Amino acid sequence: AAKDAGRNGWRFFSSEMNEHLSQRMFIETGLRRALAQGELFLQYQPQVDTRSGRLVGAEALVRWAHPERGLIAPDQFIAVAEDCGLIEPLGRWVFTEACRQLRAWEDEGLSGLQLAVNISALEFNRPGFLPQVRDILSASGVNPAQIELEITESLLMQSLPELSERLGELTALGLKLALDDFGTGYSSLGYLKRLPLSRLKIDKSFVAGVPGSPEGEAIIRASLSMAHDLGLDVVAEGVEAEDQRDFLLSHGCDRLQGYLIARPMGADAFGDWWRQHLHVHGKAMAP
Ligand code: C2E
Ligand code: MG
Ligand code: MG
Ligand code: MG
Repeated sequence: AAKDAGRNGWRFFSSEMNEHLSQRMFIETGLRRALAQGELFLQYQPQVDTRSGRLVGAEALVRWAHPERGLIAPDQFIAVAEDCGLIEPLGRWVFTEACRQLRAWEDEGLSGLQLAVNISALEFNRPGFLPQVRDILSASGVNPAQIELEITESLLMQSLPELSERLGELTALGLKLALDDFGTGYSSLGYLKRLPLSRLKIDKSFVAGVPGSPEGEAIIRASLSMAHDLGLDVVAEGVEAEDQRDFLLSHGCDRLQGYLIARPMGADAFGDWWRQHLHVHGKAMAP
């Protein structure tokens, strides 16, 4: 591309690079302020039992309400936060807020929800991560079994015995562990078998291919049978259509998450959705 751009190619690259850098700076400086001034908030997306359609869990997803730019999605700022050392305070805020909200729902009589929280690999690998999680959990008074940490396959690059031990320290606190975006990165059967996971989340890129794409169907069928053989529960993410739900139901997928069920919602809207759901489905939550 440098050659195609000819003599002035450097100008092209340099302005693109400047734009990239200034965008990064914009995010980085803004994020410090966002953390200090409470511009971050969480949305919650329901997870339902595939067969009964009942609410069983939710995933907490961070958003940034920027005073000038409006809503900024996590894809725009998580990687920057990881690069500039802000993932630690950001992750701490997310976990604290998720626990606080779960407790608030319990106090309102909206009880038994299992709440999944995304954990960046960088955050997980910090030495202070475990004690921090323990302190936040105990200060919040939530039942640890109702919190599920979503980790990604990038963690699986590290030495198995060490990783397995560190994950075991989290499950010893009572927490559940889910492997997010399953199938998009590096995971081997050997790893999955030896880690204390409860759940796999099939990535939405595979869900998008069913029914119809032979590859997509094969990957989902194989993931489900492998996960179930290993005693893991499976949630499919990015479920947008009824034929996807039907495919997942007929292949035994345990839980569904996606726009077909509901979009991520702020805490109040999620509470309203939940009450309405209980009205329709009756109260039965099985975490
Ligand atoms: P993820 O953990 O895989 O989250 C699922 C993403 O899929 C979310 O995007 C969600 O809004 C989106 N989604 C849900 N249902 C559908 C659907 O039916 N169709 C489509 N096309 N998308 C759907 P979101 O909220 O933009 O988050 C993107 C990623 O940012 C997350 O992917 C996660 O990796 C990261 N993230 C979000 N919140 C946090 C957080 O609190 N901490 C960390 N470390 N990462 C986070
Ligand atoms: Mg996730
Ligand atoms: Mg995911
Ligand atoms: Mg993702």
